[in-house]
Amino acid sequence: MTELMAQTDAYLREFDAAVVEVDSAEGAVALDRTAFYPGGGGQPHDLGRLADLPVVRVQRRGEWIWHWLGAAASATEAATSLPAIGAVVHGTLDWERRYALMRTHTAFHILCGVVWRDYKAQVTGGNMEPLSGRMDFEFETLHGDLVHEIEAKLAVEVAAARPVHVRLLPREEAFRIPDLIRTKINLLPEGITTVRTVEIEGLDLQADGGTHVANTREVGTVRVAGYKSKGRINKRIELALD
Ligand SMILES: [Zn+2]
Repeated sequence: MTELMAQTDAYLREFDAAVVEVDSAEGAVALDRTAFYPGGGGQPHDLGRLADLPVVRVQRRGEWIWHWLGAAASATEAATSLPAIGAVVHGTLDWERRYALMRTHTAFHILCGVVWRDYKAQVTGGNMEPLSGRMDFEFETLHGDLVHEIEAKLAVEVAAARPVHVRLLPREEAFRIPDLIRTKINLLPEGITTVRTVEIEGLDLQADGGTHVANTREVGTVRVAGYKSKGRINKRIELALD
C-alpha cells in the first residue's frame, strides 16, 4: 500500500520514492510512498513533476497511488521514458497550487464549523478548486443578510489564528467522539482501522483525508462569492480566497 506522506506532513513539497508498478499503456507509475494528494473529500489531486516528467493526474487504484506522467510526444516515447520498477524517483509538487488548496480546504472547514455552531446546519456536500469552491447545507433559513453575517464570522475565525491539528486515531477511539458522528463517520467502511481527524481548535472537528494549513490565519482573506437555493432546504454557499 502506498504511504501517503501528506497525511502526516501537508507541507512536504519534495520527496524520493521507489516505483512499485508501471502501466506503460497509460503512462502511469505507482510508488511505495508519495507526497501527491490523490484527490478525495472534494479536494482535487495534486499536480507537479516526477522523474523529470509532468504529473498530470494522481489517483488511488487498489492499494497503490498511481501518477500519470504527461508531455511525451507519443505513447511509445512515454513508455520508454517511464521509470522502471525499482527505480528511485524524485517528486516535486506544484506547491503554489497545493498551498492554495490547503488554504481553500481549511476555509471550508471554518465555514462548516461556523454554520454548525451558530445555525446548526449540516453539510451535505462540497467541491473545491484552488482558491474557490462551494458547499451545500441543509439550511432552510439561509438568506442574503445571513450570507454577510457568515462572511464576517469567517474573518473573525481567520483572525483568531486557531491552530489546526491532524490526528490518526484507532477506529474505536474516533467513534467515541460525539462531534465526529455528525460528519457521518458511521459511514466509514468496516475495514478502516485508523481514522484521520482534522480539528480546528475550538471550532470544528471532522474525519478527513485532505490537506490543511496549520493555522487558520494562513487562510487569509475569504469572501462569500455567492449563494444559491437548491430547493426549500438545501442551500449552496460559494467561497473565494484572495
Ligand atoms: Zn475536508
